[in-house]
Amino acid sequence: MYIGCSDSRVVPEQLTSSTPGEIFVVRNVANLVPPLENADASVGAALDYAVEHLKVQHLIVCGHYGCGGIKGLMDPHPHFVGMPSLAEWLAPAHRTVMSVENGDSNLWWRQAVERNVVQQLANLMTFPQVAKAWEEDRLEIHGWVYDMYTFNLHVYDESTGVFLSADQLLER
Ligand SMILES: [Zn+2]
Repeated sequence: MYIGCSDSRVVPEQLTSSTPGEIFVVRNVANLVPPLENADASVGAALDYAVEHLKVQHLIVCGHYGCGGIKGLMDPHPHFVGMPSLAEWLAPAHRTVMSVENGDSNLWWRQAVERNVVQQLANLMTFPQVAKAWEEDRLEIHGWVYDMYTFNLHVYDESTGVFLSADQLLER
């Protein structure tokens, strides 16, 4: 199962070299997984179906550098005028974005994209069926960030807490 951003430049089937029938996809603005206590029924329904019925073995949350949703949260006031639903949807990610605030706005943007993915991985664990499948080793959970400028995929390394490119992974 792949949970990614609605951004048209980040195409899950292309990223994963998948053909029809291979991946179960949820896309929304800024690839959010609202936690169970504030569940979004659409994301929750897809998780229920993927984990309980399809019994997927991999759950991927994929963000991307250059994400407009995350950028909007770095300075939300001008960005969300006239877009109340978008403001409401993204509000839970505001604290995450602010937690990595950096004087260098490009660095801030990149770090916020990464931190947002890590937060969604934690949110996934609020769903009992996800936590149970993970604890029983039936499910692997992956955090990715796609760099659409270099076409590189960066993978979250839980042991170090950083995202590693394919080259860095191979060097280890
Ligand atoms: Zn995006």
